[in-house]
Amino acid sequence: MSVSVNREECYGSGECAYRVPDVFTVVDDYGEVIPGREPTEEDSRVIVAAEACPSQAIKITPAS
Ligand code: SF4
Repeated sequence: MSVSVNREECYGSGECAYRVPDVFTVVDDYGEVIPGREPTEEDSRVIVAAEACPSQAIKITPAS
């Protein structure tokens, strides 16, 4: 799966980093995927974090 954060939608709540700290972090008040930590397999924690993002800034593309 691929996962990314749209900075224009993120408002830096930090919820993604709180929920999945091994995948997300907050840099300069924006959520980010930690380089190299994008899950290669489907990760339900990341899907839940995306659903819980208050600004729907996390985009997920399932593995094909
Ligand atoms: S949960 Fe959403 S709004 Fe909050 S830091 Fe993460 S991407 Fe940004």
